[in-house]
Amino acid sequence: MPTRYVYLALGSNLGDRREQLRAAIEELRAGGVAVDAVSALYETPPWGVVEQPAFLNIAVSGPSDLAPRALLVLAKRIEAAHGRDFAAERWTARPLDIDIALIEGETVDEPDLTVPHVLIAERSFVLVPLADVAGDVLHPLLGRTIAALRDARPQAERDEVVRVAEVGWERA
Ligand code: AMP
Repeated sequence: MPTRYVYLALGSNLGDRREQLRAAIEELRAGGVAVDAVSALYETPPWGVVEQPAFLNIAVSGPSDLAPRALLVLAKRIEAAHGRDFAAERWTARPLDIDIALIEGETVDEPDLTVPHVLIAERSFVLVPLADVAGDVLHPLLGRTIAALRDARPQAERDEVVRVAEVGWERA
């Protein structure tokens, strides 16, 4: 594949959450995503099943020549290495979750892979971190920038996404 920017949303709500996110960034680099931007670190209340720990959420971006499906395989491999239980119910606690938010110039619409991720425009916990690394990027189907999509979310929902460490946290 030609090299283009990919944008990933990561979350963790089990174990040493910050360390798992930090490790995942290195594992993405080792796997073929040259991560060159990392958002601030945000804490968000659990979504879906609410009786579970809070999440730390980030977004990262960087050039990659991996095809969308190869990127999904890499994401799953990294999740599995962090002990993700794929048999667990949806929306439950997980050490690490990696979603493909956007891929520059590409859309995918297959049963097990949709890019842009179907729910990004509806979730502040994705849009707020994503806007740090992709604020000016256009959502190819909605024709609006990530920053505009974030700003369109209800204030109360955005306020739940609390910045707990500034950009550069992963190098601290
Ligand atoms: P989740 O429980 O949020 O990790 O979602 C699990 C499934 O969503 C994965 O096994 C993928 O097959 C599917 N999926 C569809 N679109 C995407 C995407 N853009 N990024 C990651 N997973 C996706």
